[in-house]
Amino acid sequence: MSNQIYDVLIVGGGPAGLTASIYCARYKLKTKIFTDSFGGTMSDAHKVCNFPSYKEISGMELTKKMIDQAKSLDIEIDFETVVDIKKEKEVFIVDTKTQTLRSKKIVLAIGRKRRKLDLPKEKDFLGKGVSYCATCDANFYKNKIVSVVGGSDAAVTAALLLSDIAEKVYLIYRKEKLRATPLWIDSLSKKENVEVLYNTEITKLL
Ligand SMILES: Cc1cc2nc3c(=O)[nH]c(=O)nc-3n(C[C@H](O)[C@H](O)[C@H](O)COP(=O)(O)OP(=O)(O)OC[C@H]3O[C@@H](n4cnc5c(N)ncnc54)[C@H](O)[C@@H]3O)c2cc1C
Repeated sequence: MSNQIYDVLIVGGGPAGLTASIYCARYKLKTKIFTDSFGGTMSDAHKVCNFPSYKEISGMELTKKMIDQAKSLDIEIDFETVVDIKKEKEVFIVDTKTQTLRSKKIVLAIGRKRRKLDLPKEKDFLGKGVSYCATCDANFYKNKIVSVVGGSDAAVTAALLLSDIAEKVYLIYRKEKLRATPLWIDSLSKKENVEVLYNTEITKLL
């Protein structure tokens, strides 16, 4: 275990972790980021059109800029998975596969895992027709025919959002009754260009 104690160890190198690191640096806190992917899910974004100050920028480019900024402020970034965090007295002990570090504070910026359908080719089509974020990507489906998979609030609100942009929306749900909030379901039922397919699952993406 290294003798040095960090002020802040950040777990996660997506936009949240990188932004937190920039603030830490500005408070002259000795800070390091551990992350097991470059830029988090942001780097999967084909085009980001809602990040203030950029009309349009690729997720990868935005990631590079954020990492450059963090590094320019002497933020250390190690591409490793944090496997354990424990507290001894007032200090956190952080383990990765190759090192154990101590820190006064921890920032968990580990994002969230989007539920996938795990279909063949699903990964290949990510950002090329397949999306997990209607708010981010709805405009790419302007006047197109689009399907939304799911039956909860996230799916129904995505279908509602897309119904104002796309030509036609299919809402594909594997069960016989949507489980979204009844008010959202009411709004959806008023949309002429939305068709709900119950008891249906996608088997292939072609
Ligand atoms: C295809 C796609 C397009 C998108 N487009 C947009 C868009 O246009 N506009 C927009 O605002 N949002 C968009 N988003 C959503 C945006 O990417 C997320 O909201 C944002 O990345 C969340 O940032 P975060 O830092 O909280 O988490 P994440 O980006 O998920 O980052 C979390 C990081 O933590 C790391 N991590 C997790 N556990 C550990 C561990 N134990 N040890 C080390 N590292 C760990 C992960 O590897 C990851 O690097 C899009 C998402 C996707 C998938």
